[in-house]
Order: sequence, then structure tokens, then C-alpha cells
Amino acid sequence: MAAESISRPTGAKVIALALQQLGVKVIFGLVGIPVVQIAEEAIGLGIRFIAFRNEQACSYAATAYGYLTGRPGVCLVVGGPGVLHAMAGIGNSSINAWPMLLLAGSCETHLVTKGGFQELDAISLLTPHVKLATRPCLDSLPQSITNAYRSAWYGRPGTGFVDLPADVIQGRPDENVPETRIVAAAPRAGVDPERLADVAELLRSAKAPLIVFGKGAAYAQAEHTIRKLIDNTGIPFLPTPMGKGVLPDSHPLNTSSARSAALKNADVVLVLGARLNWILHFGDEPKWAADVKLIQVDISAEEIGKNNGDAEHGIVGDINVVVPQITAALEGFQYDHASPYMQALQASKAKNEANAAKTVQIVKSPMGYHQVFDVIKRTLNKLSPPEDGNVVYISEGANTMDISRSAFPLEHPRLRMDAGTHATMGVGLGYAIAAHAAYNNPEAEAQSGPSASARKKVVCLEGDSAFGFSMPEVETMARYNMDILIFVVNNGGIYHGDSEEEDQWLKLQENTQQGQKGGLRSTSLGWEVGYEKMAEMCGGKGYLVRTGEELQRATEEGFNSKTPVVVNVIIESGSSKKLEFAWQKSGAKK
Ligand code: ADP
Ligand code: MG
Repeated sequence: MAAESISRPTGAKVIALALQQLGVKVIFGLVGIPVVQIAEEAIGLGIRFIAFRNEQACSYAATAYGYLTGRPGVCLVVGGPGVLHAMAGIGNSSINAWPMLLLAGSCETHLVTKGGFQELDAISLLTPHVKLATRPCLDSLPQSITNAYRSAWYGRPGTGFVDLPADVIQGRPDENVPETRIVAAAPRAGVDPERLADVAELLRSAKAPLIVFGKGAAYAQAEHTIRKLIDNTGIPFLPTPMGKGVLPDSHPLNTSSARSAALKNADVVLVLGARLNWILHFGDEPKWAADVKLIQVDISAEEIGKNNGDAEHGIVGDINVVVPQITAALEGFQYDHASPYMQALQASKAKNEANAAKTVQIVKSPMGYHQVFDVIKRTLNKLSPPEDGNVVYISEGANTMDISRSAFPLEHPRLRMDAGTHATMGVGLGYAIAAHAAYNNPEAEAQSGPSASARKKVVCLEGDSAFGFSMPEVETMARYNMDILIFVVNNGGIYHGDSEEEDQWLKLQENTQQGQKGGLRSTSLGWEVGYEKMAEMCGGKGYLVRTGEELQRATEEGFNSKTPVVVNVIIESGSSKKLEFAWQKSGAKK
């Protein structure tokens, strides 16, 4: 080979340089031949590479990193099976509208259709599911990566996909490759004056106005603009599960504990960065008033008028531009708090909060969900007050997620991630790693709370089933010294587990093995599985707890630990008679 060609960088180096020039600080990935060369070049340039145990978890992590930082999270995987596993992350990115740049290897161009190593026509497979799918040649690497990055980020976020054949990764471009064009934040649109006047009039004349905000508002980092609108006008608000924290839960206008009454009785609702899907009961009866007027503000035009939205009042624009316009148009307006709507909300709040206080006082053995979350909450709040915003909660599992949602107060945005729009179980550990990287990097890219540079403790609240989906990532956490605190709320199964006693469980298991009727149910998992050992086996700490005192001690020690910690919390199981299925309770499927 001529000396001149050796001095030229490889495709792998060009790719790593392009990522560096785009400002990428972290890559979530799982390597193999040939993408390992890209990872090594990136590490050589000072980009952090977090190596996972399964592409599914690392693709979830990249999407969560995109959500927390407001820029595409980057994921690097091998071709073929790596791409198939990472499709979970592509789905997650598009359904949650979180930006991800996915880079995957593929077989040598000249071997395509011959059955090459890990050959897969990823472009055809992924094109319907991503915003851009591209296979660059050696000389077009920087512009292809830039375009995929920009497409993932601009408009409603999603995935930009770059397929990287082995000969492109290993080859050397003929010419000097062009510099990567820096991608600036997307231009932002506002509302036209006529629509603004119309919407302002609707809000001024409303008898029961409400502002609902979702994870789009959190992603847009719109906490300051929304706060000003609410403080100026006195209109009550309701966050969606991941909109929680955009305004402090302790804010007097928060109607979360009167959610049903707030939705049912509102006559004009300003919806900021939240879709009218199942999470908001489609904006429809019976959860909403039949004649409610819904003013949707969304970056995506296709969203306006969907389900029960009113297209004639909808606004296509960026929350950070539109909300200050609305605030200015409502100058001088103050919603009258003596209204029957506000009184109904206060009454409903008082009643629901009193009921909730009673529920957490129930102490039993084995413990129940409410008691568990109350102990964890009280212990954590003492160690790190919610005002400081230095705890990030990740939560998944049916009852674990449902019940914990209201148990932990949040005073700052982007400090809570859950199973999201797809109700995806298995995202938790990847999200936790992403949150740790986003908030605790020396060059932390995500910010929340008053002290931007403070370290944040990542706390996972996992059902035993949800934890199982990505259990090996505890080793990833340990390898990178991530001091993540994981609670496995263990009732021995999906939803409610199977039996109340070990003897009974063993009997059912025996029936199963003998092929008899009355064996273990489909919701059953192992009896008191030692999940805490997942941490112990890789240098972390594990705790098995059964009582409130044990849980409190484990929470304190876990919070202060410098390694990952798994606290296996044995709770009542087989309580199907006492605990309903989550979907039965929500009335979602009838
Ligand atoms: P939630 O699950 O909290 O209800 P969704 O994910 O359903 O929230 O909705 C988020 C919405 O926010 C999406 O429709 C997305 O297009 C929108 N969105 C994202 N960023 C912005 C922004 N900067 N301005 C306006 N809307 C946004
Ligand atoms: Mg369970």
C-alpha cells in the first residue's frame, strides 16, 4: 500500500471525527466486527463509549439520553442481529418522540445478496420506522451522518439511521473528506396573530380553564416559559406522568391529586407537548367534558385535531415560542379562583389526599406497595430534599409504576422516566444508565434543578418482572462505577404474582411439571428470587429486605454507596383478590 494512502484516515476514523464535530460526548453501544473500530476511534478522541450487554437496552438508553439532553442520543451496534435488537430502541424513539442517531455495521458491499456475515437489508427493513435511513459511501460519510443526526433532531424527534458497510468502515477515502457541518438547534416557529387572539379570547372567557403539559414540554425544556404563563394567569395545571416536574408538584395550582375532577370539569384546555392518546383518555368522554375545547400546541402538525382535539384552535409551533406569545396576549388576565371549578378542585384534592394518607399508614407483613414507597420516599427525601432536584427516578412494572407515580414528589423537570407511550417494560436499566451518564458526566449534558453541576442519584423502582427484561445491565453499571440504586419490588410475578405462601407456590410448580391442571399461572415468576445477587456478583451491593426498618437501612446505605445496589424488597404476592390488574383499575380496556 502506498505511504500516502496509509496516512489517510480510515472510514472508522472519519465517522468518529464526524461524531466529535457534531458534539457527541457519549455513545451507547455493543460492538463486534467491524463497528468495534468506530468505537475504538471514538474512545481515542475522548468520546465516552458505554458498552452494554444487549442492543435492546443500549438503544433504549440512547433514546433516553436524547430526551434528557435535548439532542440525539447516539447508539452503535453491529449489523444483522444487532440491528434487529436495536429496533426496540427505534420504536421507542418514534413512539416517545425522542431523538436518536443509530449507527450500525453491515456486510461488505460486494457481498450483498451472497449471504455475507450478519448480512441484512437494514435500509429496507428500517425505512418505514425511521426519519432517515442512509447508506453512505466512503466520501459521503460526514454529510450522511450529519443529515441523519439533523433529521432525528428537527421537527418531531425520531431516529436517523446510518448503515455502515464493512468496506466503508475499513476503507480509506480517496480525497480529503469534507469537514462535518455543525448542526445548530432547529429553527422554532410561533403562532400567527389571528389564531393567537382567538386562543387568548377562549382562555379569558373560560369558566374552567386548565393547562395540561406532557413530556414534549419537558423535552423542550419549557419549564420557565410555562411557569411564567401559569404564575401570571393563575390557571390550574395538570402534568402527564413524564410532564411531572415541569412545574413543581408543590405548586398551589397543581391539580394532580384532583386529576379526574380537573379533566372532567374543564371547559377550555391548553395542551402543551402532550398527545391526546390513551394517557389522556383521547381527550374524550367520559373522562373529559363532551363540549371541552382543546387548544393543542404541538411541533407536529399531524397531531393537531387528532382524536378529540379542535383543529380550529390548534397551534403548530414550539412551546418555547408559543407560550410566551400566549402569556403576552393574556397580559392583565387573572383567572378568578372563587370559581366553582376551583372549589370543586380544592374539595377533590382534600378528599383524595386524605385517602392517600390513610393508605400509606397501612403496615402489614409482608409489606404492600404503598408502605414500600412511603419508606423509600421518606428516607430519600431526608437524604436529598426534592427542592434540590438531585434524585432521578426511573420506574417500570405494572403496579410498581402506577402506584409509585404519585408517591414521589418532584420539584424539577426531567427527573422521572417510566415505561412511556408504549408502556414498554424493560426500558428501566438502560434509562438509568443514560440518566447517570447525562447528569453525572464530567461534561454533564443534561440539566435540572437549581444546582446544575450537582451529582444526581439515579433510583430505579422496578417490578420483579420489569427488572428481568434487562437484568444483565447491572453488570454494565458496575463496570462503569455507576452508583445506581435499584429497588426490585418483588411479588413473584407479573401484576400480582401467583400465591401467597411458598408451600402453595411449590405445589403449583409441581402441578406444572407434571402437566396437571391448576399449575402456575401465566403471571407467575419464581418464588422470592434472589435478585440482590445480580449486584453482588459484579462488585455491587445487594440487600434482601422484608420489613420497613430493613428497607429504610438498605435505602440509606444504598443511597450512600459508590457502587450499584440492588435492594430486593419482598412484598405481598398472590394478592389478586386484593389487587386489581392495573388496566382494570384504569378502565382502559373494557
Ligand atoms: P405525554 O406522554 O407526556 O402525554 P407525548 O409524548 O404524548 O407526551 O407528547 C409529546 C408531544 O410533544 C409530541 O406530540 C411532540 O410532537 C411534542 N413536542 C415535542 N417537542 C415540542 C416542542 N418543542 N414544542 C411543541 N411540541 C413539542
Ligand atoms: Mg411483580
